[in-house]
Amino acid sequence: MRRPALGELAGLEFDLVVIGGGITGVATARDAALRGMSVLLVEKDDFASGTSSRSSKLVHGGLRYLETYQFKMVAESLRERERMLLMAPHLTEVRPFFYMLYEGYPETRFLLNLGLTFYDVASGEWRKRRHSMLSAGEVRQREPHLRAEGLIGAGQYYDVLTDDARLTIDTAKGAAEAGARLLNHAEVVGLLLDGGRARGVRIADRFTGDVVEVHARQVLNATGPWTEHTRALEEGGGAARRMRPTKGVHIVLRKRDFPLNTAVFLRSPDDNRVVWPIPSLEDDLVYIGTTDTDYTGDPDDVHPEPADLRYLLNVANHTIPDAKLDESHIVGSWAGLRPLVAPAPGTSTSNTSREHVISTGPSGMLTISGGKLTGSRLMARQFVDAAERQLERPHARSTAVRTPISGGQVGTFGQIRTRAASAGVPGAVIDSWLRRYGANAEKVLEVWRESPDAAEVIGPRHLTRAEVRYCVAEEECLTLTDLMVRRTSLFFWDPAGGLTPENAMVAELATLLGWSIEESERQLAQYRRLVALHRPTAGQPADERAPQA
Ligand code: FAD
Repeated sequence: MRRPALGELAGLEFDLVVIGGGITGVATARDAALRGMSVLLVEKDDFASGTSSRSSKLVHGGLRYLETYQFKMVAESLRERERMLLMAPHLTEVRPFFYMLYEGYPETRFLLNLGLTFYDVASGEWRKRRHSMLSAGEVRQREPHLRAEGLIGAGQYYDVLTDDARLTIDTAKGAAEAGARLLNHAEVVGLLLDGGRARGVRIADRFTGDVVEVHARQVLNATGPWTEHTRALEEGGGAARRMRPTKGVHIVLRKRDFPLNTAVFLRSPDDNRVVWPIPSLEDDLVYIGTTDTDYTGDPDDVHPEPADLRYLLNVANHTIPDAKLDESHIVGSWAGLRPLVAPAPGTSTSNTSREHVISTGPSGMLTISGGKLTGSRLMARQFVDAAERQLERPHARSTAVRTPISGGQVGTFGQIRTRAASAGVPGAVIDSWLRRYGANAEKVLEVWRESPDAAEVIGPRHLTRAEVRYCVAEEECLTLTDLMVRRTSLFFWDPAGGLTPENAMVAELATLLGWSIEESERQLAQYRRLVALHRPTAGQPADERAPQA
């Protein structure tokens, strides 16, 4: 995936311009490009820099939605979960989950069993993965540290964990492989209107400030929590309020402080909402989510507040009372906005599912709002179908469901492992490459072979120079934050956000991207600020914090 220079795009006309590089936008670009349409996607920050790197990292049916009888939506999400396992095998992992039953919970054993039977059958994979009902004793045997008081038992079922940011990046790369052009760090600052119709966009490069105009037969708005701002471009600032975003926060704990091996769904002691401590794909960590509070602030500045952290620590101490955790145990945290849809008076709206809405604005721009990471393929298909109808173009069948996203060619993993081992790549490094990049680990291996210093580990969790070089060359990685948050996820799982005293990754990026000393310092300061906002003990010297596992 190569970032086009702004000048290359000036005056061009595309079938579609997609605004927003979250999972919805990149899945849309991939679907449309696979149908043979010419597509440009524009993202104002980095791919996945919005909600799509700050979810609960689940590809799931949403068992808890059965409580509100959303059977159709759950069944649809389960089918999409199974498709995602095939499209992104390197980024999805099936894990067991416990839905806990304690005295005083509204769920009964009978209803939970019924719900889980529906969940098994609706996924179409009930022969492979079937739920079972566990007694209190069986739960205690598997998870001896869970609160015993009032424990009735649990339903064990299966769902899928992912790395949401990598899922977005590899979907973006899949779009590029199918012929789409994708531009990050460039903002759509205006629509080109012709007789009131949107015929293109005005794009400002966030690095240089340069502005170009690009024409489009159809403009698609996939800007999640920024939807209202983008609609305001269309409606001259008078957009009615259509989104009602809520903020969701997660915290990360070490497994040795919070000993849990199975993901559990249970109720918060503060307000009885369903919450979830989940052992992360990184073996030594557990994350807990999520809060759900109304948010009226700037979508560009979402971060956890002390009250969010207290709420989640209460969940932790309620789940495992012996843990006795406080803020010093928090490794990291993240906060995202749910792009929930409020009723939209005055727009022609087609409610394509209970979860997401596609609507046409006065200029003909199509907007998609709501939805989930899990349903992104289906949302994209429906969004491109709507664009085809608007363009009165003959319907082309989408092949996205049969095409793995970039890196998803699972058949090659064994050969890559063998080749990497014979090139001297340590087993733990190969594992981490395959988990992050799937079949594209082959390209990281090529970089490793090109020069001896590429083998050097320069960051936590086996971050090698080869990886940094690969991310810059192949993944439009243009800032330190791009690397640490969306390409390697070190921001989420490392107490220092992945930074080391030497900060060798900054020096490597500076060489690759031609940064001056001042620019390197600016990048570092910016990233440190972000890390500090997400670490309650960030002000303390490192040796006073709980040590890293
Ligand atoms: P975003 O990812 O926010 O992308 C919108 C993008 O548009 C942003 O990157 C932004 O920078 C860009 N943009 C905005 N304005 C402009 C402009 N003018 N020009 C160019 N670009 C612009 N779903 C699941 O399936 N599983 C889960 O476990 C799950 N957990 C969740 C937990 C939380 C706390 C939250 C908040 C959501 C969760 N979801 C989950 C839902 C899922 O994460 C979101 O539905 C999904 O990520 C939204 O993607 P998006 O592309 O619509 O929005």
